[in-house]
Amino acid sequence: MTESRQVVIVGSGPAGLTAAIYASRAQLSPLVIEGEPSSTSDQPGGQLMLTTEVENYPGFVDGIMGPELMQAFRQQAARFGADYLTAKVSRVDLSSRPFGLWVGDPDAEQPSYAADSLIIATGAQSLMLNVPNEERLLGYGVSTCATCDGFFFREKEIAVVGGGDSALEEAIFLTRFADMVTVIHRRGELRASKVMQQRAFANPKIAFRWNSSVVDILGDTKVTGVRVRDNLSEEESVINLSGVFVAIGHQPNTSLFKGQIELEENGYVRTFGGTRTNVDGVFACGDVQDHHYRQAITAAGSGCMASIDVERWLEDQQAAH
Ligand code: NAP
Repeated sequence: MTESRQVVIVGSGPAGLTAAIYASRAQLSPLVIEGEPSSTSDQPGGQLMLTTEVENYPGFVDGIMGPELMQAFRQQAARFGADYLTAKVSRVDLSSRPFGLWVGDPDAEQPSYAADSLIIATGAQSLMLNVPNEERLLGYGVSTCATCDGFFFREKEIAVVGGGDSALEEAIFLTRFADMVTVIHRRGELRASKVMQQRAFANPKIAFRWNSSVVDILGDTKVTGVRVRDNLSEEESVINLSGVFVAIGHQPNTSLFKGQIELEENGYVRTFGGTRTNVDGVFACGDVQDHHYRQAITAAGSGCMASIDVERWLEDQQAAH
């Protein structure tokens, strides 16, 4: 049986849950399809579920733990009547209204939900190297989150892969714990901003392995090293270490919507004048449409915008009929 909803929000990070707070207070009884538990950031609560302390979210003088913050967001929206479904959307049909959303069998004849309007807040996730043993050792020395896992590498030797701001930020942060942090970068030149480069070059605990790619991660039950290829000489060598932080960027979680709404060249949802997408009645907020700021507070802000945009759009629809 297809259930009808005025507003469905897909995703439950700061953007989706802020949209849910606003939409539920506007008495739109939103349904939040929040995702499923997983070991990556693609899970209920989003990327903050993989962080420890959040010190830059306004309102918390002493900081707050990421998961605790997301739990508070969730309960706040529930208090005003938001419903949650702990599942992933398996298919959408945005070709006509109401929009169709499938949960479970994507080939089912009828959609699980018929939505008058849709807020996409599916976020983004870390890119991975896709080398042997990376997935198996994720959480056992392979990490995408220095803030979450840095503490486990006190007095150890570790590596950060990447040459952008994220890689250097993580490397600098990790020197609080590790004895030595090697930044492994595939080219001879960093992509990161000059100020971050200067900070990293000045840090005695940071070394660089230039023109090098990680081709394998070594270790049985936990990471013991990486095999690295020199991209100029093609020679391979092993670096012994106990942790590898992958910091090579992020990708938006938009595969569900490909071919149905306009995406930017880099795969993020294209939004117009606020949170509208090119499909009337579909709105997008948070990291799924923002590759620039990527902060919890900006995601939350755009979630608020999406809900206000939806509310006004629904009013316009009613006025037109
Ligand atoms: P990014 O700027 O896209 O950098 C990604 C880095 O990873 C690049 O150096 C890239 O190498 C490398 N890389 C990509 N795919 C790879 C692969 N398969 N194997 C090995 N290396 C690979 O991503 P980011 O560092 O996450 O930053 C994203 C945005 O957020 C940027 O605009 C950045 O300025 C911003 N940011 C700012 C701050 C800050 O200001 N504090 C902190 C974090 C992020 P190439 O250089 O060869 O392409």
